Amino acid sequence: MSEDRNEVWWRRATAVIPGGVNSPVRAFRAVGGVPRFIRRAEGPFVWDESERRYVDFVGSWGPAIAGHAHPRIVAAVQEAARDGLSFGAPTVREVLFAERLQSLLPSLERVRLVSSGTEATMSAVRLARGVTGRSLVVKFEGCYHGHVDGLLVKAGSGALTFGHPSSAGVPAAVAQETLVLEYNDSAGVERVFAEHGERIAAVIVEPIAGNMNLIKPQEGFLEGLRRLCTRYGSVLIFDEVMTGFRVGLQGAQGLYGVVPDLTTLGKVIGGGMPLAAFGGRRELMEELAPLGAVYQAGTLSGSPVAVAAGLAALELVSEPGFFERLAERTRRLAEGLKEAARRGGVAFTSDWVGGMFGIYFSPTVPRSFQEVVGSNVAQFRRFFHAMLARGFYFAPSAFEAGFVSAAHGEEVIEETVTAAEEVFAELASEEE
Ligand SMILES: *Cc1c(COP(=O)(O)O)cnc(C)c1O
Repeated sequence: MSEDRNEVWWRRATAVIPGGVNSPVRAFRAVGGVPRFIRRAEGPFVWDESERRYVDFVGSWGPAIAGHAHPRIVAAVQEAARDGLSFGAPTVREVLFAERLQSLLPSLERVRLVSSGTEATMSAVRLARGVTGRSLVVKFEGCYHGHVDGLLVKAGSGALTFGHPSSAGVPAAVAQETLVLEYNDSAGVERVFAEHGERIAAVIVEPIAGNMNLIKPQEGFLEGLRRLCTRYGSVLIFDEVMTGFRVGLQGAQGLYGVVPDLTTLGKVIGGGMPLAAFGGRRELMEELAPLGAVYQAGTLSGSPVAVAAGLAALELVSEPGFFERLAERTRRLAEGLKEAARRGGVAFTSDWVGGMFGIYFSPTVPRSFQEVVGSNVAQFRRFFHAMLARGFYFAPSAFEAGFVSAAHGEEVIEETVTAAEEVFAELASEEE
């Protein structure tokens, strides 16, 4: 038998690219085995280099909300590309796009476009520091805000300690400007504000956490952040790079009715192209250069081709009933998996919101990073590989959320649940 094409390319990749990948989670380190090289994608499916088809629940980690290679997004990109790829000067599409973002998310009184979620969070934090003249930033363990130095920080030992770098190369002095608390720990936030409130520039939070599997905010958590930031004059940043236009048309801020000072967006808003944004209250945003003293810039910011894709994506998600249908499919998947596991006798549960879901090899839905890391990771790995072998591509890590697209029809969801039922039965018999 000839060697699998994925293996051939994996060998070549690892000889030229560190770890074979341009972003770590793609390397399958958490699950083992050879990553699939994706040749093409359409609707709910991806095909690997061996022409094997998979039902995809990664969706490029969120952007593919309308399904892969949606004809309207592809056409918009082609049309824009014909007129030139980048000018480094203002374009009409940027204005239309900003207007569209603002009309959907009214908290974006002013918005600026960048090329990645990391750039958006980095810029939002700098702006918050520049405006307040303070340096401390509060973040929550398990929330991911891109690979910004000051946000690659984990909790120190003991409660309420200043952070430690979670990556080599982040200076301790930088990490010490970040206070790391447990997600959903409202009392902890109260205490940290009581002690350091006057020095806190910003609180940055995923209003629904999607980078430690899926964890929803407990009632009162986001409201508490809003109240404390207002009282102490700190900037509340909702990092909606994942949840924006994914959990609903108004993002998590719309679902929970809590309005941040600044919002970061990415993933869905680019329709699959490198495009992200940050925006919020006018008096904050107008402190950015060229109006104000906070510098921020980008050669390819507002790329005409990326913005064309983004406009098409926003049009698609704004169609009447889009999120109702998406949520119904996601609910069916999450409930179906839960039921299949119950019948198999596997300790498993799931949760979902909009077009996002979490699967947990634990009896209850976790509320914090500490609870998530207690799940049965070995069992997740077996589930992942057994599903992959059957043609279903879940995120290759127990600590990532899953994504459903509008192109995942009922049939595809039912096939997934049926396959999962077989897999859960296998897992249960292995345990015996
Ligand atoms: C993906 C993500 C980021 C980083 O975005 P990139 O485009 O990968 O830099 C930041 N915050 C959240 C919540 C994300 O999910």
